Amino acid sequence: MARSLLGRPLHEVSAYRIGDLLVDSGPPPTARRLVEWCRDATEYSPIARVVLTHHHEDHVGGAAALQEALGLPVLAPATAVPILAEGLRMPLYRRVVWSSPARFRALPLGEEVVARVQGDELRFQVIPTPGHAFTHVCLWEPSRRWLVSGDLYVHPRVKYLRRIEDVWVHVESLRRVRALEPEILICAHAGLVRDACAAIERKIAWWRGLAEEARALRSKGWRLRRIPRRLLGREGFLFYASFGDFSKRNLVRNLLDGPQA
Ligand SMILES: [Zn+2]
Repeated sequence: MARSLLGRPLHEVSAYRIGDLLVDSGPPPTARRLVEWCRDATEYSPIARVVLTHHHEDHVGGAAALQEALGLPVLAPATAVPILAEGLRMPLYRRVVWSSPARFRALPLGEEVVARVQGDELRFQVIPTPGHAFTHVCLWEPSRRWLVSGDLYVHPRVKYLRRIEDVWVHVESLRRVRALEPEILICAHAGLVRDACAAIERKIAWWRGLAEEARALRSKGWRLRRIPRRLLGREGFLFYASFGDFSKRNLVRNLLDGPQA
């Protein structure tokens, strides 16, 4: 799903149907289409519940409409429930890209969520994975080795960080899920990622490598201002479009502040 501008999609995001479970719900502009899809595509095998991986607007945007139009229960990480009830406080640029989601009452997720898939019962464990967002959780199904990873993975070489993110907490979460030895990541932005362990390791290695290089430059007396450009090049479109919320400098600063600094 995506909001489109001049016929071109801006920043795509996926929701996933696993049997009678829908994970995430896209951004607000596609809420109505998602409700229609859920109504039509599931006529003979309906969706029973919606689970949200974290409180960001591109994951929760269809939840209020699904709850209202189809009467579906919506479960969210316990820390996200009050945020969703109050309504998100979003920077202007994010309101422009996504628009603000409607407020709604979610039920707090427990330790497990069940998906019924053609007579099989898949039991997903809820794994707290903060860093990208403090509310973030992944869903882990040990018999199939599937990890529904929300925004934990996204890309192996992320060069930007939002001000509110914490890269070392994120790395800790990546390590936690790597230890589970998943086979497939079901990622909200990268699609299905096979060879999941190698993908997670590449992501950890990229940030650790950058941290090492940044520390080496700092120990040579480089100022923070110059290090991101040397390692990652100039700030790009994302920096300007987000008024500096996403920046290479945030990432480098965060890496240098880290526990291994
Ligand atoms: Zn997110």
